[in-house]
Amino acid sequence: MMITIAKRELMDAQAPNCSTSMINGASSNILNWDDVRFPWAYPKYKVMLANFWTPFEINMGKDIKQFPQLSQVEQDAFLKIIGLLALLDSIQSDYASKVADYITDSSVNALMIMLAQQEVIHNHSYSYVLSSIVPKKIQDEVFEYWRTEHTLRKRNDFITNGYKDFTEQPSIENFLHSIIYDVILEGLFFYSGFAFFYNLARNQKMVATSTMINYINRDEQIHVGLFEKIYKEVLKENPEYNTPELEQYAIAAFRKAAELEIEWGREIIGNKMDGIVFEELEQYIQYMANKRCHQLGHGRNVFPHAPIKNPLRWIIAYQEVDLGKTDFFEQKSRQYTKASDVNGFDDL
Ligand code: ZN
Ligand code: ZN
Repeated sequence: MMITIAKRELMDAQAPNCSTSMINGASSNILNWDDVRFPWAYPKYKVMLANFWTPFEINMGKDIKQFPQLSQVEQDAFLKIIGLLALLDSIQSDYASKVADYITDSSVNALMIMLAQQEVIHNHSYSYVLSSIVPKKIQDEVFEYWRTEHTLRKRNDFITNGYKDFTEQPSIENFLHSIIYDVILEGLFFYSGFAFFYNLARNQKMVATSTMINYINRDEQIHVGLFEKIYKEVLKENPEYNTPELEQYAIAAFRKAAELEIEWGREIIGNKMDGIVFEELEQYIQYMANKRCHQLGHGRNVFPHAPIKNPLRWIIAYQEVDLGKTDFFEQKSRQYTKASDVNGFDDL
């Protein structure tokens, strides 16, 4: 039987302010942060607020000088990866707002709106970077890559097909499936791209862009955490959906996603970059697929032989951001912060 999820009412005078459930619940739709159902919602709200950033804070001066000095292979990969990220973040703003319509909890709806806003900022950062380092014509081409590049197209279709069932037929099952694709998008499909930028930063190249990438990475980790909470809550509310079939579905989706990510990584990164050993990157993607599947409660069986610890040891300093602590990027970026209100053309 297909249970449809009802859209949230704009106002429900009979319902309590504190919602009765994540989906298909009762909620007045009033938001009082001191009277919400999920104890994790307010702390998440605070973290998302504290992480707020905009591309304008980052001075592109050094990157503008460095980009022409990158090798052709590095420049190509740089633009292709930005093209991929732009595609993913564009889809994501819209998916988040569609999900928000079906959440019957005003506080989680608020978090979803903040998430969508952050995706808009991520997208802005790609335009900001490109408008700084390449002519407008090339910038426009990069934003067309999702149409013109075959592997990008394949990845695009993989995610949009995963979302489509939910948007066309919002059942509980389709919603759960779409969250698996969400975690793939936000928690796996960015990751060889992240590795590429962090590797540049490790070699003191394009540090401003990598700083932005690090902020995006930090946001995405919060987003994955939020969708993980929603997924688990929906399963708690509807335990009949927590089936071996769902687990098999998740494992198969993560496996296919990792294969696409690896295929893409082989094509644009391979063993062509100083500092990246492709076999390690491949292991890293498999490790991440296991990690994300495990996060959703479905174990680490996507790649049973993948390493249990992060095989890209060097990336941890760049990636595993411990919120509240300053790290390499934040120290760096503080020097850039508010340096210029214009499009970063003033050199420091
Ligand atoms: Zn994003
Ligand atoms: Zn996101």
